[in-house]
Amino acid sequence: MVEVEMKSENQQNDSMKERRWTLDDFDVGKPLGRGKFGNVYLAREKKSKYVVALKVLFKNQLQQSQVEHQLRREIEIQSHLRHPNILRLYGYFYDQTRVYLILEYAPKGELYKELQRFKVFSERRAATYIASLARALIYCHQKHVIHRDIKPENLLMGIKGELKIADFGWSVHTFDRRKTMCGTLDYLPPEMVESKDHDAGVDIWSLGVLCYEFLFGTPPFEAAKHSDTYRRIIKVDLKFPVKPFVSPQAKDLISQLLVKDSAQRLPLEKVLTHPWILANADPSGVYAM
Ligand code: AMP
Repeated sequence: MVEVEMKSENQQNDSMKERRWTLDDFDVGKPLGRGKFGNVYLAREKKSKYVVALKVLFKNQLQQSQVEHQLRREIEIQSHLRHPNILRLYGYFYDQTRVYLILEYAPKGELYKELQRFKVFSERRAATYIASLARALIYCHQKHVIHRDIKPENLLMGIKGELKIADFGWSVHTFDRRKTMCGTLDYLPPEMVESKDHDAGVDIWSLGVLCYEFLFGTPPFEAAKHSDTYRRIIKVDLKFPVKPFVSPQAKDLISQLLVKDSAQRLPLEKVLTHPWILANADPSGVYAM
């Protein structure tokens, strides 16, 4: 770990340049977490001593759930993205029974757990995260990639607490987008709930949902029944609770993101210059915890 921190970003990346990997190239350490299709371990590449997260997926589980094509797309897309707020995928390899993803290690873990711990985030913290995400999504959209599954469970934190978008399992290149229904209902925009054609505007909507959840502690269209969430999303039934206190500027930004017509949602570049972001977000993109 220490060795990695002492190296420059370029040197680190050089040491993980594309090559054929096998499990023998890594010292595998403690488990970092358990996922649906396998486990994630802290690992170190033996030669460079570079620390990574090794995600181990079981082929039979991937086959049973028919998600091999999704995994291929995730690898194809995520391995080509290079942004400080997007988790790097350095490479992959496989053996008879497993597929291994070599991922950037996110030492501070899941944002979801932080939100559970604090219930809500301060406006400073929320705005810093929203600005980081807007920058990462601008980068993705420039590369014609839409993530489609932005939610707290898919956000990890780097060593300084900076956000890292992980899990590109639902992402697509805009040129092969389909009218697929995917992701957790709570974060889906009206056009996806209604299985209509959709574009990069879906990520702008999710940013609005996330901003609301950071500040109020629950997603905006939450309901006991799936069918009620569905109805609330389609109607854009947006209500702001009186408590906790949230500034009018924050509510203004959320209202401009959660707009039914995707073309009318506030463009991500304008999110970065919204008065609430300018007043609250830490320009370094790091929220000092
Ligand atoms: P996943 O299968 O992606 O849901 O990962 C399972 C769990 O492993 C996550 O909830 C995280 O706690 C942890 N994890 C996954 N990827 C990483 C990573 N790159 N760095 C640190 N922890 C991770």
